Parts: sequence; structure tokens; C-alpha cells
Amino acid sequence: MRGVRSTANGPAVVEVDEPTGDGVLLEVRSSSICGTDLGFLAMGPLDFTFGHEFAGIVDGVPYAVEPTLFCGACAECLAGHTQRCVGEHSNLGIFIDGGLADRVRVPRENLVALPEGLDVADAFLVEPASVAWHGVVRAAIQPGERVVVLGGGSIGLLAVAAARTMGHHVDLEARHPHQRLAGERLGAGTPSGEYDVVIEAAGSESGIARCTELARPGGRVVLLGVFHGLVPVPGAMTLVKELTWVGAMAYERHDGTREVDEVAAMLAAQPDIARTLVTHRFPLDDAAEAFRVAADRSAGAIKVVLHP
Ligand SMILES: [Zn+2]
Ligand SMILES: [Zn+2]
Repeated sequence: MRGVRSTANGPAVVEVDEPTGDGVLLEVRSSSICGTDLGFLAMGPLDFTFGHEFAGIVDGVPYAVEPTLFCGACAECLAGHTQRCVGEHSNLGIFIDGGLADRVRVPRENLVALPEGLDVADAFLVEPASVAWHGVVRAAIQPGERVVVLGGGSIGLLAVAAARTMGHHVDLEARHPHQRLAGERLGAGTPSGEYDVVIEAAGSESGIARCTELARPGGRVVLLGVFHGLVPVPGAMTLVKELTWVGAMAYERHDGTREVDEVAAMLAAQPDIARTLVTHRFPLDDAAEAFRVAADRSAGAIKVVLHP
């Protein structure tokens, strides 16, 4: 079968073994490219199949997938914080085979049933939208607080959608015109003044610096962008404003309810979110071209999807 991997010639569709082992066999129908995948390409050839944002069919039934594999027994897992699992913890498509492929094995408990109105062709969005949803949850926004999202990539735009769905007013500061237009469609306002909550979804050093400018004294900054190494934080501004920095990673459970299920309901109720986010669709065989398009944000790409 086919799978997308990082090769000496960049991202490519290669022949890979049929998935074996535990879990149910999912026939992939939609699978999108994440900034994390673009980051992997810089590491050269890799021996795992990409794809952690995907949906497909098991025994004729469509599902999205929560790709996080966790122990379920440690204190963090038992409290619902499965993203903080300190036991055996991994993620499909991140150093183990994922869903940018014809088929992938998924533990049955990681399947996400699709509510009426969410098509399997758009259900790959459950994963990135859950990342954004969790960031908004971590922001613990109080009624009437001013909120801004910094960064108009797919996670920033999905954070706008999540905040709007939870009933908050939210502004968006984005670099590219097509991102600002998408933000408007999702209900974001134009930024002005200072904010109680700043959600960083750019994942850049300049983004961190800008957050400290946008935050009011006593404000909170949620780190939703991905940072691997050290990043400079404006020290004086953090001290003078007494800012609170909040980390947000992946998604979790609240009293047994999975955030992935809450997000599937949001996407089903608001099909315009998928219509706004998805700018490009390709057959799996065109993966190299899809990665090229996804990497060029100035060319108008937001979410680039592959359909095996
Ligand atoms: Zn991702
Ligand atoms: Zn655990």
C-alpha cells in the first residue's frame, strides 16, 4: 500500500508494508498536512509514515481519530490529562506510522464517531481543531474578557472558531490577507488596544514578543504555537505587566468527555469552518505537490488535504 514519508528527495509517496498489530484497520479517506510534518522534513529521511490529522472508514462506518496513544493508568491519564501521560505515550504519525497512507491501525477506543453533518472528507479537522479548542479551554476566558488570537494559520483560525463557539468575542491578528479574510468569515474582529487573553498561534519568536505587547497588565498569554528549543521572552514587559504564561498541548478529557467529541460536534454544526479552512485537496499520489503548497503560506494555503 501507499504511505507518505520523508525521503532523500523530500516528501514522497512510497510503498510501505500493510499495517499489522493491534487495533482496527481504518481505510483512510482524508488526511491533512500539519506544520509539524513540515518540520519533520528538515530532519531528512525518516522511517515512519506521516499523518496525525486523518479520518476514514472502519467496517463501513466513518470515523475521525484521536491519534494520541497513552497508558491510561498514570495519575495524569486518570485525571483526564491524557496529553500529559507520563507512562507509555506516543502519537500516530509522529515517529510511528500514521494516516497519510491507504490504511492505518488505530485502537478502537481512539475512534471518534462522526455526528450527523460532519463528512469523513472533512473529519480530519477534528484533530487540529481539538488542539485549538484545548488552547481556548486553557485560556479559562471569563465573560466579558477581551481575547485576541495571534497567527492566522489553521490552528489560529480554529482557535477563533472554538472561542466563538464557546460564546466569546475574539479578534485575530494575522500576517496574510487571505488569513484575515478567513478569520472574518469565522467571526473574528479586527485587533485594537490591549487584551485580557492573548493566544499565541504563530509559533515564532516575533509572535512571543508581540503577545507581550498585546496583553494588558495582569493578562495571560496561551502558548498554542509549537516551540522546541529556547525562545526569548521579553523580560521587562513580562515583569512590569505581571503576565501569566499558559502552556497548551494537544487535547484531553473533562469529566470523561473527550475534547475530540466536543469538537466533532462543533464541526458538524458549523460546516462553514471546514469550508473556510480547506483551501486545497489532492489525491494521495500528489503528496509532494501538496507539501509544496502547504509550505508556501503566502500563496493562499490554509489547510491542504490528501485523499487516498
Ligand atoms: Zn498537527
Ligand atoms: Zn498515562
